[in-house]
Amino acid sequence: MASSDTIFGRILRGEIPCQEVYADDHCLAFRDVNPQAPVHVLVIPREPIPQLAEATSDHQALLGHLLLVAARVARQEGLESWRTVINSGTEAGQTVFHLHLHVIGGRPMAWPPG
Ligand code: 5GP
Repeated sequence: MASSDTIFGRILRGEIPCQEVYADDHCLAFRDVNPQAPVHVLVIPREPIPQLAEATSDHQALLGHLLLVAARVARQEGLESWRTVINSGTEAGQTVFHLHLHVIGGRPMAWPPG
């Protein structure tokens, strides 16, 4: 499946709604439909990269931008401390094959993750 055909591709195309918290020319950030903490936002590139494992050096600036947007969103949500997660691959827990960063915060976090 091309990642443009995932649920996130449909969100980017405006075919299904989302609770947007930030958008620019390169990415979109919106609330996770099944939040794991008081704040749980997903940051996704507009370019449909399926997973981090498929990113290349061509994506270097975009990947840096996504991290900076994650921090911007966390601050916007009032977080001083948060976790940024990228699941890459099924065994890591990735379920939507359109690269995304989770920004999770607002409660104490355990380590290691499950
Ligand atoms: P993954 O498990 O791939 O790292 O994360 C996918 C995330 O997307 C999950 O946390 C899941 O709750 C979220 N998600 C799946 N479908 C939708 C949707 O239609 N809308 C929103 N806002 N989040 C979704």
